[in-house]
Amino acid sequence: MVERLADKYQVTPNQISLGTGSVAVLTQLIQASATIGDEVIFAWRSFEAYPIVTKVAGATAIKVPVTENKEHDLKAMLNAITDKTKTILVCSPNNPTGPIVKKTDFLNFLKEVPKDILVVLDEAYTEFINDPEAINGAIDVINESNVAILRTFSKAYGLAGLRVGFTIAQEPVIDYLKKVALPFGVSSLAQAAAIAALECEAELLQTVNALVLERDRTHKELTQQGWDLPASQGNFIWFDLKEKSEEFAKKCEEAGIVVRLFLNEGVRATIAETVANKRLIEVASQFRL
Ligand SMILES: *Cc1c(COP(=O)(O)O)cnc(C)c1O
Repeated sequence: MVERLADKYQVTPNQISLGTGSVAVLTQLIQASATIGDEVIFAWRSFEAYPIVTKVAGATAIKVPVTENKEHDLKAMLNAITDKTKTILVCSPNNPTGPIVKKTDFLNFLKEVPKDILVVLDEAYTEFINDPEAINGAIDVINESNVAILRTFSKAYGLAGLRVGFTIAQEPVIDYLKKVALPFGVSSLAQAAAIAALECEAELLQTVNALVLERDRTHKELTQQGWDLPASQGNFIWFDLKEKSEEFAKKCEEAGIVVRLFLNEGVRATIAETVANKRLIEVASQFRL
């Protein structure tokens, strides 16, 4: 499996480490880089696991608010760096808000980050990106000594239940990570499934592309209704409804649509089959802000 991925990403097998989901790999990366008294910087709102894995490592979470457009505020993240900072997490596209980090912005950001800080680029939804300006870690920053790229089989490949994720980084980073990784993590069954998924990747990506078209169409229709939505480059759309979130989630539920409620923050609606997306658009059109 590692050889297969190394081949795909044109790196050596020593530059890849597998884990039981990319959250497990992320936990290892944080445990290898930060401990009690250290700081881990990440955007907020972002992926709900970030505060948890930071706490598990004993480190302190430094949450930097996303911009008004719900994008990473990379300038503010740079300003948040102290001599206690050991790790920075960047999520592109950002779960649950949707926008990507641009390649040029990420490269400029990296230039300013001290080389002894590990930057983890979490690309769990990378297969859903169609913005050509987006960073693609596996192409753009694969040779950076202090960057670890996180990828998963849980999202576009649909294997969440089997728990397979991995990181691509330079060998010294992988060596550190292996010191805190449990051996024999990913089962042979899960690896076989992941390899099979890679083998039919072309077909899988066709399904992903169809979903991306649905996403863009749904986003556009909602925008035409007057909704002010952040850019969406994952397989979901973020409604920044604040205290109206619960009410909207309830309306969705009544219409038979399952959404993810972030109480008093927003609602994340995952793009599904066309019928469900139409229903979402309908619910949204009737919702009074
Ligand atoms: C889903 C997700 C992951 C990883 O999930 P695993 O199932 O552990 O691979 C990582 N980061 C983000 C932002 C996610 O949304």
